Amino acid sequence: MNYLACGVNSPIPIPAYYPKDIVGAEGPHVINKDGNKYIDLWMGYGGLLFGHSDLDIVKTIQKNIKNGWFFSYQTFLEKEVSEIIHSIIPSAERVRFATTGSDAVAYSIRASRAYTGRNKVLSIVGGYHGVHDGMTPSAGTPNVLLPDLVPFNDVEAVEEKLRTKEYACFLLEPIMANSGCTPPQKDYLKKIRKICSKTNTILIFDEVVTGFRIALHGAQGFYNIVPDLSVFSKAIASGLPLSVVCGNKDIMETFMPTGNVFFANTFNGNPLSLAVCKMVINKLQDGIFYVENEKMGKNLRKYITEQIDNIKISACVQGISSMLTIAFGCSSFKRGIKLEQCDFGAYNFFIEEMAKRHILLPPLPSETIFLSPVHQRVLGEIKVAIKQSLEELRKNYYKQV
Ligand code: PMP
Repeated sequence: MNYLACGVNSPIPIPAYYPKDIVGAEGPHVINKDGNKYIDLWMGYGGLLFGHSDLDIVKTIQKNIKNGWFFSYQTFLEKEVSEIIHSIIPSAERVRFATTGSDAVAYSIRASRAYTGRNKVLSIVGGYHGVHDGMTPSAGTPNVLLPDLVPFNDVEAVEEKLRTKEYACFLLEPIMANSGCTPPQKDYLKKIRKICSKTNTILIFDEVVTGFRIALHGAQGFYNIVPDLSVFSKAIASGLPLSVVCGNKDIMETFMPTGNVFFANTFNGNPLSLAVCKMVINKLQDGIFYVENEKMGKNLRKYITEQIDNIKISACVQGISSMLTIAFGCSSFKRGIKLEQCDFGAYNFFIEEMAKRHILLPPLPSETIFLSPVHQRVLGEIKVAIKQSLEELRKNYYKQV
């Protein structure tokens, strides 16, 4: 008997043929109850920056857990890590720690509304920013103020909305990761930064995925655009629960107790997660991670594109750095993937073939594949499986002779 409500712990449609009994993980692999190993290309929704069970992180947890892992008082670590974040993230004049990405986004919207005295929120078609009421439409959340939406990479649409000066904030991922991996077009971020400043709209970068993954100073540092507020999670503590809201001092000081915006969670700024965050930052300081991951991402995107060209099927591969998306039945997309234009049958066929070869991809083409340095040692295996799976797709799905 499965006592999980609806049999699962998340609405993401995990295929029937994926393992349901994961008990452990190491490096690029997850391992099930029977000891079968699968190469993981989803990597904790991008949270596992260094792969599974990274030894430096294991040691950090072991060392710090002995000192206690949960206090109701202020900790030395929260002050220390906030100073480090202030020194590396361009927008981080002030920093607050929370627990999940959704919490951090909710606090940033709340602060924007309180600071501007406006209620409306502008966001992006196909984006995802979390579970709280007013972020993602859901039954059971009547009369909540959902954001108005504009397409990604569409400057005119942003201008048209924001010129009304009715919006508290414009919330977006600087690189979309929840709508297929979609980087910003040249000058898009620069132009929306200008429009937000002109209309006194708070620009919020949701760096829950991109933070520390694209660059240590975030996508904002990578593109050299400073938002008013930003939120980080996932990779910052390499998969331990921690999130950050940071930004402009005046907006950040709308939070209680200086201001009157409520910001609290029992587990905020968890000391174990903060210790890991500090270790993650140390590991990233020399920049080698970024050079190697970018190289591997480029190499894999090029390889898959070549294989697709060889068998002459309609598909696209796009991404940036260690992130990529493979979609069938459509060409490259600049405004986020349009799922209704994708061939889901082909995607399902492909990921089933990959799973037969013990490689697990995200179950939807709108989710991003994440690479980490541990994939380097299984890159050959991944490439062989991709070539064989595409060949099977050509023969048995597209029925090409
Ligand atoms: N923002 C983005 C860009 C995300 O990808 C996610 C989670 N996938 C969230 C916010 C919400 O984070 P969490 O699931 O930790 O609440």
